[in-house]
Amino acid sequence: MLDLAFETPKPKVIAGAKADWELVIGLEVHAQVASKAKLFSGASTVFGAEPNSNVSFVDAAMPGMLPVINEFCVAQAVRTGLGLKAAINLVSAFDRKNYFYPDLPQGYQISQLYHPIVGEGEVLVDMGPGVARRVRIERIHIEQDAGKSIHDMDPHMSFVDLNRTGVALMEIVSRPDIRGPEEAAAYVGKLRQIMRYLGTCDGNMQNGNLRADVNVSICKPGAYETYRETGDFSHLGTRCEIKNMNSMRFIQAAIEHEARRQIAIVEDGGKVVQETRLYDPDKGETRSMRSKEEAHDYRYFPCPDLLPLEIEQAWVDDIAASLPELPDEKKARFVTEFGLTEYDAGVLTADVDSAAYFEAVAAGRDGKMAANWVINELFGRLKKEEHDITESPVSPAQLGGIIDLIAKGDISGKIAKDLFEIVYTEGGDPAEIVEARGMKQVTDTGEIEKVVDEIIAANPAQVEKAKQNPKLAGWFVGQVMKATGGKANPKAVNEIVAKRLG
Ligand code: ADP
Ligand code: MG
Repeated sequence: MLDLAFETPKPKVIAGAKADWELVIGLEVHAQVASKAKLFSGASTVFGAEPNSNVSFVDAAMPGMLPVINEFCVAQAVRTGLGLKAAINLVSAFDRKNYFYPDLPQGYQISQLYHPIVGEGEVLVDMGPGVARRVRIERIHIEQDAGKSIHDMDPHMSFVDLNRTGVALMEIVSRPDIRGPEEAAAYVGKLRQIMRYLGTCDGNMQNGNLRADVNVSICKPGAYETYRETGDFSHLGTRCEIKNMNSMRFIQAAIEHEARRQIAIVEDGGKVVQETRLYDPDKGETRSMRSKEEAHDYRYFPCPDLLPLEIEQAWVDDIAASLPELPDEKKARFVTEFGLTEYDAGVLTADVDSAAYFEAVAAGRDGKMAANWVINELFGRLKKEEHDITESPVSPAQLGGIIDLIAKGDISGKIAKDLFEIVYTEGGDPAEIVEARGMKQVTDTGEIEKVVDEIIAANPAQVEKAKQNPKLAGWFVGQVMKATGGKANPKAVNEIVAKRLG
């Protein structure tokens, strides 16, 4: 497997009034499993359906209804675990987490507390070329989502939409290895990227596909290292958990605010109280939601409706064999195979579609040139119209065709940009367009000499100046390019101008 070397970033230091403080952050990410049906029923998971139209008797918790595990959802969790280089537990089990919630008709959530399906893994969080943080994954368990209460449709009533009830979630729990707000956002971004490569979660944060509970504590420099050496959490500060964050920007802002709040308490001689807090994006602050609850508060017990989940190693092996090339490996391969910078390779492997597009353009061509065109011209142009790579009006074959014309010397880089714009807006075969519109580069030196001579004859004063100061030759080059509509071969023009001016 290919791997790029990296250094570990320094933790974020926040200056307090009395001392410097470091951040320690652990995330519990809820990722909706990409599946057409729910975890324990055949009801659809489609987003945006008419309220309460995708609710089976199981989801509505009608008496006597029994959950039946959806094998595909289990496979998706295993696939995610393998993508995070994690241990897969061949035996796992479901537990009932009891609590009252208006949009949870069962009165409990089926989750996996004691025996999760996925054990320890790790994620490499990129923090710039050659810099990455290794974040340990503690576990991934599968559980049901709850429905949605709607409080803003009527002044006197609340409504409940059970469409989301029973949809499969993967809860990905990290160790407290994240050391700053940017890292936390980058970690969520990396999980999202990996799961999108795997096809196990759409990662659409606006639709609530991906939500994070963010645990934050502060400590003195050196304390985290002692925790890592000893495994003893008492070296870390008391944490607060900020619930249900579904935006990268809010995750960062909430951590910043929460760190300052905790520093102020501790420097004032107080103690941070472990609790669950909510982030208010309008006020930019977190506030207390409830004191920290413990597992026993929920009266967890093994779900009597479901047998322990036993899977076979051969089945796991089949899933492992079907994994795609993942972002880290693809990026490393792009660096070595195409000679790209790590930065460019990172941009091109941000999603599978961009990577595939680039590879199609680069096949049999200069990799760096292909990367330049895809990143600078194509991505730049698509971004202007807020288009996705999958909506690109220019196909890899067309972009490759433009690059071939440059490589052959048929068109200059400047004309190539005009050509790109034509292909982008009008479509067509690049070589045919160049032919039909007379865009070919003039490499015939006789023709260029003629133009150079005309310009020299018309500008005697300028010639005198250029003879004193050779830097002014550039003015003549510019005039020639203008006169030829940018089609003259720039190298030839430079040579001829230099020769003529002596
Ligand atoms: P609980 O089940 O009570 O929520 P966990 O041990 O499962 O507790 O931890 C939940 C999350 O909190 C994990 O992501 C973990 O990494 C993180 N965490 C634990 N201790 C700390 C700490 N001192 N500071 C920041 N995050 C922490
Ligand atoms: Mg927890």
